Amino acid sequence: MIIAVDGPAASGKGTIARALAKHYRLPYLDTGLLYRAVGENVRRLELDPEKEADAVAACDFDDHLLDDDVLRSDDVGKLASIVSAHPLVRAALLHRQRRFARQPEGAVLDGRDIGTVIAPDASAKLFVRATPTIRARRRHAELRERGSSVSIDRVLADIRARDLRDSMRAAAPMVPANDAALLDTSFLSIEAAIKRAIELVERQVNLKAENAAHG
Ligand code: C5P
Repeated sequence: MIIAVDGPAASGKGTIARALAKHYRLPYLDTGLLYRAVGENVRRLELDPEKEADAVAACDFDDHLLDDDVLRSDDVGKLASIVSAHPLVRAALLHRQRRFARQPEGAVLDGRDIGTVIAPDASAKLFVRATPTIRARRRHAELRERGSSVSIDRVLADIRARDLRDSMRAAAPMVPANDAALLDTSFLSIEAAIKRAIELVERQVNLKAENAAHG
């Protein structure tokens, strides 16, 4: 079973995807980390994230980088969003993500284009969203906990800029797949959001099984 979980930053998609992986005992891949690693590698190599050739050169990162906490910062998130708009960067990371999705036991992947590009044949697809203000509040609380003094207005502006870049780009823009179930977490607790996500996955999987049985 492949479960695709897409949505914008701080929508809750990572928490939901991890919970689904635990519930169904499936391996999990946070695909945002791959783009973050490219962004961070661009910075370390002192390349220009806006230049496609520079960003492609940074795709060959050391896998140890994926465990580095520096990838979680908002600065690296912004670099990730810039490099991820280059079609050749997306192409360089495509095979790795598809291979992960097609393991024999299945997988849960979260990102922006899992249901549309990486695994269009997924058994279940969720598009997780929440209002920008609520996402900014969540992200702000998280950053404060980590000792950052950034203002909520700044976080909200960054979220809006990233949404715009991710949804307006020509290559694999962030849009819900036609057959994705929408899950708005704005007014849901984490527990309620996870419960709802499991219900939506069950519904899609059962529907597919019924359709297959009736030819
Ligand atoms: O999900 P996360 O915030 O870690 O992703 C960082 C950036 O990587 C996103 O803003 C987006 O531009 C890019 N990304 C993407 N496709 C994915 C996952 C992430 O373009 N599947």
